[in-house]
Amino acid sequence: MYEIDSAAVIGAGTMGLGIAGQLANAGVKVLLLDIPAAGDNRNAICERALERLLDDKQPGLLHKDLLEHITIGNTEDDIANLADVDWIAEAIVERLDIKKLLYREIDKYRKPGSIISSNTSTIPISLLVEGMPVAFREEFAITHFFNPVRYMRLLELVRGTETRSDVIDYLGHFCEQRLGKGVVVCNDTPGFLGNRVGVFAIQKALHTAFDMGLTPEVADAIFGRPMGIPKTGVFGLYDLIGIDLMSDVAKSLKSILPGDDAFHDVSADVPIMAWMIEQGLIGNKGGKGGFYQPADTANGVSRKTLNFESSRYRDYAACEPDIENNDKHRQYYWDVLSSTLCYAATLVPDTNESLVAVDDAMKLGYNWIQGPFEMIDAFGVDKFVAQLEEEGRDVPGFLRTATGNSFYRVENGTLQYLLADGSYQALRRADGIRRFSEQRRTLTPVLENQAASFFELENSVGIVEFHTKANALGPESMQLLEAAIEHASANMAGLIIHNDAQHFSCGADLQSILGFVANQDMSGLDAFLDHYQRTLAAMKYAPVPVVAAPSGLSMGGGFEVLLHTDKVIFHANSVTGLVESLVGVVPGGGGVKEMLYRWYEREGDITRAAWNAFMNIGYGKTARSPLEAEPLAMFREGVDDYIMNRDRLLDTAMSAVMGMAPGYSVTRRAPLAMPGRDVWAEMCEWLQKAHEKGHLTPHDVTTGAQIAMIVSGGDIDAGTELSENDLFALERKAFVTLGKTLQTRDRIEFMLEHGTPLRN
Ligand code: NAD
Repeated sequence: MYEIDSAAVIGAGTMGLGIAGQLANAGVKVLLLDIPAAGDNRNAICERALERLLDDKQPGLLHKDLLEHITIGNTEDDIANLADVDWIAEAIVERLDIKKLLYREIDKYRKPGSIISSNTSTIPISLLVEGMPVAFREEFAITHFFNPVRYMRLLELVRGTETRSDVIDYLGHFCEQRLGKGVVVCNDTPGFLGNRVGVFAIQKALHTAFDMGLTPEVADAIFGRPMGIPKTGVFGLYDLIGIDLMSDVAKSLKSILPGDDAFHDVSADVPIMAWMIEQGLIGNKGGKGGFYQPADTANGVSRKTLNFESSRYRDYAACEPDIENNDKHRQYYWDVLSSTLCYAATLVPDTNESLVAVDDAMKLGYNWIQGPFEMIDAFGVDKFVAQLEEEGRDVPGFLRTATGNSFYRVENGTLQYLLADGSYQALRRADGIRRFSEQRRTLTPVLENQAASFFELENSVGIVEFHTKANALGPESMQLLEAAIEHASANMAGLIIHNDAQHFSCGADLQSILGFVANQDMSGLDAFLDHYQRTLAAMKYAPVPVVAAPSGLSMGGGFEVLLHTDKVIFHANSVTGLVESLVGVVPGGGGVKEMLYRWYEREGDITRAAWNAFMNIGYGKTARSPLEAEPLAMFREGVDDYIMNRDRLLDTAMSAVMGMAPGYSVTRRAPLAMPGRDVWAEMCEWLQKAHEKGHLTPHDVTTGAQIAMIVSGGDIDAGTELSENDLFALERKAFVTLGKTLQTRDRIEFMLEHGTPLRN
C-alpha cells in the first residue's frame, strides 16, 4: 500500500518550485533540493525559488504561511534526507545524463516503497530507468506537470513497462485528490498528449501565419477566441512561454518523433526567431519584448508589435477577426484548425486508445474551451470529412470511423464516446469527479434563457448555471435565478449554483449598467438593482438550502451571489472580491450589507465592522484563494469549504445540500444598530486626508463617501436600527448617486474598453 505524507522535490527551477508549492498547498511536508550554489550560502538556489513562490504577480502558494511546509537544502549536504520521504519528484534540467546520475544517488538513499517520478517533457521512461535496479524501475513513473503548476489543471501520468499498477493508481489518486490535478494517463510516447497536439497547433499556426504574410495581431485574433483557444493566440503564447524555450520544445519534439509524423511539416526553424533569440527578444520574461512589447500605461507607452520586414517595433494594430466574410481570415482559420484536428485524430488509438484523454489534455493543459474531438463534433463529422475530401486531403482512419456519427453521443441518458473499433463506451469519471459541462449534455433544462439555465439533478436537487460571456450577470441572469429559486423552493430538496466555465462570474453586467448610466435612466438603474437585490434576498431566505460551488473569478455582483448562499464550496484558486469601487460604483446587490453583517458577527462591534467593510470595499480588495479570503471575511471558517480539484466541486456541493436538507430552516436576521453620522463624518475625513496625501483620486473620494454612507447608515443618530431592506435601499441610493456622475460613466467605459480601471 502506497501512502504519500511527505515528499522531496529535486530541482528548484520553474517546475520544481511549482510542484513543491502545490504540495505545500495540499499540506504535505516537502523537502526542496537543488545543486549547492557557489559561495557561502549553499542553499541559495532554493532560497531564490522560495522568493519566486511568493511572487505577488503569480503566487504559487494559496497563502504565504504555507511556506512553512517546505524545507530547503542541497543535493550534497541533504541527500540522505530522502530516506524519510514517500515521494521523490525529480524536476531538474532536461538532460538524460544528468537525470541518470541523480537517480543513482536517489537510489542509494530512498526508502523501499517510496515512489520516484520525473517531470520530463520529452525523455522516454525506458531511457530514464535503463540500468536501474528492478525495484527502482517498478516504483518509477513520469508525472508531467504544466506551468504554472498551481494553476494548470493537467497532469500527464506516464507508466513505464515495469511500473507497478498500484504505483500508478496511487499516484493518480494522490495527484487528483490532494493536488487537484486532472490526471490523464498517457503512454510513453513523445510529447505525451498535451504537448504533442498543443505544440503541433502552435507550430502550424506560426508557419501558416508566416506563409500567408499575416501580422501577429491578425493571426492571434483568429488563432484564439474564434477557435476556442485562449486569446493569447500563437505569437502571444510564444511571448508568454519564452521564444527560446518554445523553440527548444519544438526542436526536441522534432528530434524524437518518427520521420513520417506530420509534425515535421511544421517544425522548421523560422529565421526571424533565431535573430530574435540572438537579440534577447525572447518574450515577456526577457524584459525587451518578443513578438510584442507590452504596454506600460504608467509611463504612457502603448503596446507595440514587431514588424518582420523592418525588424523594428511599430504600434499595435488591433484586429477584429471576420471568419465569415474575410477570405484570408477564413483560410487561416480553416487551415490551422483542420490540420490540428486531423493531427489529433491520428493519435487514436495508437498514441492513446481514448479520445477523451486527448480532449482532456487540451482542455486542462492548454485551456482550450473544447477538445479536438468535441470541436469536430460541433462542426459535424460528415461535413468536416467532406471538406477534407473536397480539398484532396488525407482523412485519418479514426475520423472515418466516426463518419455518419459523432465522437460523443448521449444514449439512454449516458454520455458515451467512440472507440477505434466503432463501438461506444460510457464516459465514466472517478468517484466524486463530475464535470457539469458533461452532465449537462444528458439533461433537459427545467428553465432556460439566454443568460442562464436551470436543471434538476438526482436527489431532487436543482442547479443554476450562468452562461453569458465571462458570466457577467444582467437582468436575464437574475430572472432565471429568481424563477429557479421559486421552483426549487416549492419542489426540490435544495439548489446548487455552479458552472464549469473558466470563471464563476466576473460581476454584474457592466454593459447593462452603462446603458442606464449613458441614458441617465436612473429609475431603470434603480429597478435593475432592486430586482438583483430581491432575487438574492429570496435565495438567502429560500426554504431549501442553497450551496454555491465557484471556481475562477467571483467578482463584484458575482461574489454578491455567493454572499447570499448558505454555504460556498470554493475551488482552492478561487478569486473573490467586491471591486465595484474601481468602476466608480458601490456593490449594489447586497454586497455592502452582507460584509457589514459578517464583520459585525465577527467583531461584535458595529463601528469596527463598518470600518472594516468600508476599507475593504473602498480599496476593492481581492483574495486569490479561500485562505486569503478568510481574513477579509469573504470566507466563513466552519461554514464554507474549499477543495483542490475543481472537478470535485459539483459532487461536494451535492453532498453539502443533501447534508443540510433534512430539517433545514432559515433564521431571519435582526436589524443592525448603526454607527450613524459621526462615523460617516470620520470616514469622509479619512478619505479627504488620503486624497491630500495623494493616495486617492477625486472620484475615489466621491465613491468612498458613498460606501461610508451605507456602512454608517448616513445622516442618522448612532444606534438607529436599519433592517436588511433599509441597507438594500441605501446601496441603491449610493449606486444611483454615483451613476449620475460623469466620472463613473468614464470609469465604466474605460473598464469595458481596456479591461483595467481608470484612475480619475
Ligand atoms: P529550470 O531550468 O527552470 O530548473 C532546473 C533546475 O534543476 C535548476 O534550478 C538547476 O539548478 C537544477 N538542477 C540541475 N541539475 C541538477 C542536479 N543534478 N541536481 C539537482 N538540481 C539540479 O527547468 P524547469 O523548466 O523547471 O524544468 C524542469 C523539468 O521539467 C525538465 O525536465 C523539463 O523538461 C520539465 N518541464 C518543464 C516545463 C516548463 O514549462 N518549464 C513544463 C513541463 C515539464
